[in-house]
Amino acid sequence: SYDLAGRVALVSGAAQGLGEGMAKALAAAGARVMIADVQEAGADTARALGEGHGYVHLDVTDDASWAAAEAATVDQLGGLDLVVNNAGIEITSLITELDPEQVRRQLDVNVLGTALGIKHGLLAMRSDGIAGQGGSIVNISSVSATIAFPGIAAYSATKSAVDRLTRVTAAESGALGYGVRVNCVYPGLVPTAMGQGFAHDVAAIGLFDSPETAVGAVVGLTPSGRLGTVEDMADAVVFLASDAARFINGAGLPVDGGMGM
Ligand code: NAD
Repeated sequence: SYDLAGRVALVSGAAQGLGEGMAKALAAAGARVMIADVQEAGADTARALGEGHGYVHLDVTDDASWAAAEAATVDQLGGLDLVVNNAGIEITSLITELDPEQVRRQLDVNVLGTALGIKHGLLAMRSDGIAGQGGSIVNISSVSATIAFPGIAAYSATKSAVDRLTRVTAAESGALGYGVRVNCVYPGLVPTAMGQGFAHDVAAIGLFDSPETAVGAVVGLTPSGRLGTVEDMADAVVFLASDAARFINGAGLPVDGGMGM
């Protein structure tokens, strides 16, 4: 795998699911990892990674919470070289049944949360980054930002926003000479708590006969012929964070078995 020895990574929403897998893969590549999550169970996730990693409480929608989490990371792990903006929520709904509060909540966590993560990542990393090579930021968008799948209009809009946040902040980082790369990943469907909830909910709102039919439809749209795994997504994040991706900037990497092409 790619070598991240000596680097420090903060992964938001890493108490479970994709973020947990990303934290594990980054640690396996040699990075020290700060698990940052609203769920205190993130402390157990951090302990399972072993020595040299940590947990910090983070609500990505809160500016002061980000400042505190990044300060704690620099303080406890000795620096900050990588921020993975992975925390996110997905609420399935037909547009005709849209609840404004659920839209606001998704905008808050997925869009504002990612914007604040980029803000604080750039503030912490703009001057140095490990060995003067500059830090990097990886945002987690979704295949739903690249295709039109019914039942997730608001969520898909927030993930398209993550795509735009990535491009504009990569340009801004360059314009101001920060030396920090900003990229994003578009994961395909992975049966985490969120992925299973999605399959359940698109059936519950009447778009599919059952969660299994919904999953079958996704697989049917996927040339690789299967769902994604946590490891598929984690490996892509490790690649984008590593020096192997040193000239990849402002890019979006589909990791979806071809579903979004
Ligand atoms: P998940 O629901 O299993 O985990 C999400 C994590 O984010 C949880 O640990 C939760 O506590 C944390 N979180 C939620 N709100 C937060 C907040 N305000 N502050 C800090 N942490 C918060 O979901 P997942 O499947 O692991 O998804 C991770 C990311 O990948 C999300 O951004 C999601 O949109 C994206 N994604 C997932 C899939 C999929 O199929 N699972 C596909 C495409 C994109």
